[in-house]
Amino acid sequence: MIVTKDTNGYLRVFVGRSHALADAAGYVRLHVLVAAADGLDVRSGHVHHRNGDKSDNRAENLVIVNPAQHARAHAAGQPRDNRGRFARSA
Ligand SMILES: [Zn+2]
Repeated sequence: MIVTKDTNGYLRVFVGRSHALADAAGYVRLHVLVAAADGLDVRSGHVHHRNGDKSDNRAENLVIVNPAQHARAHAAGQPRDNRGRFARSA
């Protein structure tokens, strides 16, 4: 099994491009696979790590959120400069 890290720091597994959840390169992010295997409808939204730890891919740490909720969840934890701007995107 080929497991690598994507540019956002998420573990991804090579499954081949014919897999229903694969991206254009044939990879699925591990937390998406775990969520799908746990019965979550991963096509209904984004899979988010409840505790913010991208490497904690236990099913109980994963939840489906809508894209707007997801952006807010990540924005809330990001450092900002003294004008409230994000120091860097993640
Ligand atoms: Zn998230």
